[in-house]
Amino acid sequence: MRSKVYFTKDISQEGVLKIFSKIDDNISGKVGIKLHFGEEGNKNFLDPSLIKKLIHKLQASLLETNVLYISKRRYTESHLKLAKEHGFDFAPIDILDSAGDIIIPAKLNHFQEIKVGKNLLNYNSVIVYSHFKGHIMTGFGGAIKNVSMGLASLAGKMALHASAIPKYNPSSCTKCTKCIPECPGNAISINPLFINADKCIGCGKCIVVCPTGSFQVPWGSTKLDIFMKRLVDYAKGISDIQKMVYINVLANISKDCDCDSSAHPPFMENIGILASTDIVAIDKASWDLVNKFNQSEDTFLELNSVSGIEQLIYANEIGLGNIEYDLINK
Ligand code: SF4
Ligand code: SF4
Repeated sequence: MRSKVYFTKDISQEGVLKIFSKIDDNISGKVGIKLHFGEEGNKNFLDPSLIKKLIHKLQASLLETNVLYISKRRYTESHLKLAKEHGFDFAPIDILDSAGDIIIPAKLNHFQEIKVGKNLLNYNSVIVYSHFKGHIMTGFGGAIKNVSMGLASLAGKMALHASAIPKYNPSSCTKCTKCIPECPGNAISINPLFINADKCIGCGKCIVVCPTGSFQVPWGSTKLDIFMKRLVDYAKGISDIQKMVYINVLANISKDCDCDSSAHPPFMENIGILASTDIVAIDKASWDLVNKFNQSEDTFLELNSVSGIEQLIYANEIGLGNIEYDLINK
């Protein structure tokens, strides 16, 4: 059976309300809206006012998690401050992993467990509100990426990115000892700096706490095709435990992600807003619309040398959602 994806060209607060009304049957109780506040310097993140009316209608909170790389979005306090500076000052903000994470057993092809921000389980329903655009590692970033990387805790993000053990640099360590009590695996020694791989659980806390940046995310230690499958697996694990519906906004479409502080400007016209209860169908419909409007067979393959279609094919294979859909104009 084909999934339904609703579409409006009306990129406005009313357009968001109208498209949401097509998928709101499953939304009840305490509601959170997962979005992206935009990296400092990024100019393409979605206009905060677009979701104001929806937020007020649902009395919802804005949900995010801290990131692994060095930026204001790594730490809760500076993350909250940046969100407000970017205009997200009209609703409560919940950084879901500010109080740590929870580990949930899962039976996925690449993971036996998923690690998400602890506060996620405080919500009965989550609206995944995604800016559809390019991404250097996954071709495009949409709802699947917003759920998997976007809701994973630091340790979950580490697991997604690689072998889950940080890289470390003994020559920059000042032996301040801040990392020692933070390490739950008791895996760190500092004379010289060393991580015991048998004890490290890949939580990422040392990366956050070290003032000299002596621990780093092991970027690039995973092949892109495997990385995309890991992303999809995580989205499956999270969607199995959390009720979610999806809104994708196809506006300000850059080849780069909103986590890029110097992202390229948008390369094409704005398209509209999509809504669906199927995370795969909405990303596939978004991918198809970008290609149609850009008159390309695979826009993100041309721009980023990564197609991203593998995300969707694999997601369909493992039952995360349906790659076949009907687009319904509203
Ligand atoms: S926190 Fe950083 S600088 Fe301090 S001891 Fe640990 S690795 Fe060295
Ligand atoms: S990732 Fe976590 S467990 Fe591993 S060394 Fe760092 S703090 Fe310790």
